[in-house]
Amino acid sequence: MILLGFGVAAQERLAGARALVVGCGALGCAAVDLLARAGVGTLTLVDRDVVELTNLQRQSLYVDADARAGVPKAEAAKRRVLAIDPALRVHACMEHLSAENAEEFVRDCDVVVDGLDNYRTRYLLNDAAVKLGKPFIHAGAVAMRGTSMPVLAGVADSLGVARADAPCLRCVFPELPPAGEGETCDTAGVFGPAVAVVGAHAAGQAIKLLAGRADLLDRSFWSVDMEHNRTVRMPLAGAARAECPCCGARRFEFLEDEADGRCTVLCGRNAVQVRPAAAARIDLVRLQSRLASLGKFAITDGLLVGALEGSFELSVFPDGRAIVRGTTDLVAAQGVYDRCVGE
Ligand SMILES: [Zn+2]
Repeated sequence: MILLGFGVAAQERLAGARALVVGCGALGCAAVDLLARAGVGTLTLVDRDVVELTNLQRQSLYVDADARAGVPKAEAAKRRVLAIDPALRVHACMEHLSAENAEEFVRDCDVVVDGLDNYRTRYLLNDAAVKLGKPFIHAGAVAMRGTSMPVLAGVADSLGVARADAPCLRCVFPELPPAGEGETCDTAGVFGPAVAVVGAHAAGQAIKLLAGRADLLDRSFWSVDMEHNRTVRMPLAGAARAECPCCGARRFEFLEDEADGRCTVLCGRNAVQVRPAAAARIDLVRLQSRLASLGKFAITDGLLVGALEGSFELSVFPDGRAIVRGTTDLVAAQGVYDRCVGE
């Protein structure tokens, strides 16, 4: 309260505010910790995974016992938040955010914070936030780099920001990165401090908005590179595109596309087929070298096949299609695909 501009009125606003954090990995952990300690009254935490031992190097809300017991991240994060402040209201949702449920989650919050590890779900949140008029704080991190960007396209008028100066994610990155191209935390690793810095930047943006201090927002595309020790801020003024399908034409392709239709259980085979979000051509040799740290992969008959840690077997086709063996769970299969092949 001593902090200039964060007195009683701002504290009351924070206590009455609702934040939605989608993805409770390293970014989500860093952001949720700060949002909880700032006194954001209601936190909704969405994550589809369980805590694993290899998460603990960077996912700061979890401890060894959570990993050993395989506690769902949303639930473990909720326990930790309530241990920090029992007065907060915390909703733990062990769900896969999809076109079916995204609007329901976004409608009931005052800010959306990105704790995700994949672009398809980010674009879905971008669509939902713009459509429903909510601010969305995008954040992402991989290896020793990360980025953060406030998406104010849905709230430009109420914040008094010119529409042209309030781009959405698709104004800046019109299309999904092609399947098999992007690095993921599972193929490139992630430096714990980098993801903490990015999560803190995103949480700072959310807290400023919720406290009624939008004047303090960093209205730039912000990126940090802890390998080369660089920080870059690209101003977003004038970056909104009239031809943007999302905030320009208000065509919400990711909400309308039934993303879960990409997964099909292959009957009687204990396997799921996953299709890429967009037409793709995969360089299997490159993908093979990227996946080397995850298991033993070989290219046979034009197909990249390998066994992953645990009990999954993954086969990737040159067109981006993949078969995940060892499960009939669509969400688990989609998770394996997102981690290994990308979008
Ligand atoms: Zn846009």
